[in-house]
Amino acid sequence: MTGTIVKKSELINSNNRGHFFIALALLDGSDIKIIHLFNAHLHETFSLHRTVALKNLIQRQEHFLFTKASKSSFIKLFKPTEQQTKLAETLVFPDQKSTNQSTKRTISEALLKDVQSRSTITAKVVKVSPVKRVKEGGSLAVRALGIADNEGISKLVLFQQNAEKIFEEGDVINCSNLYCKTYRNRKQLTSLASTEIEFVQDDNLLLLDITSSPPQFLEDPDFNTLPPPPLHTVDEVLFTDVYIICTNASCHRKKYQRGTCPNCAGTSSTESSARASLKLSDGKQVTVFEDNLKVLLGEQPIITTNDELLQQIIEALPITFEADIRTNTLSRVVKK
Ligand SMILES: [Zn+2]
Repeated sequence: MTGTIVKKSELINSNNRGHFFIALALLDGSDIKIIHLFNAHLHETFSLHRTVALKNLIQRQEHFLFTKASKSSFIKLFKPTEQQTKLAETLVFPDQKSTNQSTKRTISEALLKDVQSRSTITAKVVKVSPVKRVKEGGSLAVRALGIADNEGISKLVLFQQNAEKIFEEGDVINCSNLYCKTYRNRKQLTSLASTEIEFVQDDNLLLLDITSSPPQFLEDPDFNTLPPPPLHTVDEVLFTDVYIICTNASCHRKKYQRGTCPNCAGTSSTESSARASLKLSDGKQVTVFEDNLKVLLGEQPIITTNDELLQQIIEALPITFEADIRTNTLSRVVKK
């Protein structure tokens, strides 16, 4: 491997057994590789910004070992770009963890720490990406999770065995040795090789519902799991239904029946909502509620009377949109 040394650690005591090494970050194209250099006589010559060609390294999970059998030579100097230098500065040498204690924190606290700080967090899984395999030959497994505690939410990136674990929404996990990193201008938590994940039980953690206001990190391509949903066209409106809903928060916009909330027996609400039964060009029928009606119409639905809403939808026909339709429920709705 050939690369330019963009970061060099102080002397690190390996497992406190008297084996000292320095860690080097080697920039190889756009990839940064970490080398642990044990050979004391080379510590000086492997200085910052020198470009080296290395042979016979031993690959470990997240780094390479330069041992007695390894060979090195120095080649023509290469000047890293400003961006590459910046990238190197944010880099954490995995073995510096031994001097950094992982501290129990909430997600919000952990997101305020710098890359050198290690946090242990307990959180609920609210989103799971598929495992992606990156680097040559798909050698590095990566998985992103959306995690939340009662005060904050974050993207968490896992590697290797941690990425290969099976996660489900609602799992409570305890993760150690996480650090905060900025990716696509957003802060996220990132794991290290030393990160341990335990599945735990914590009844104090609420499950955050992210369907109504999805966190921005879900836009990261890591969470792209599915191809775009299929295209549909609405040709006919079967009926519209404007109704009163309960405004009591615990009733979740329950529809009033005969002037009463079936949940709390309230009668005072004057707030309305609506649904429409629509027929698609393939013959399927779907029921669309206010939020998705707004998407299909491209404007606020008129929810004063059934007839006005019906008129509004008829005037918008035909309506073409993308959506996944399962058991009469629409998701990922985009008007075309
Ligand atoms: Zn109610």
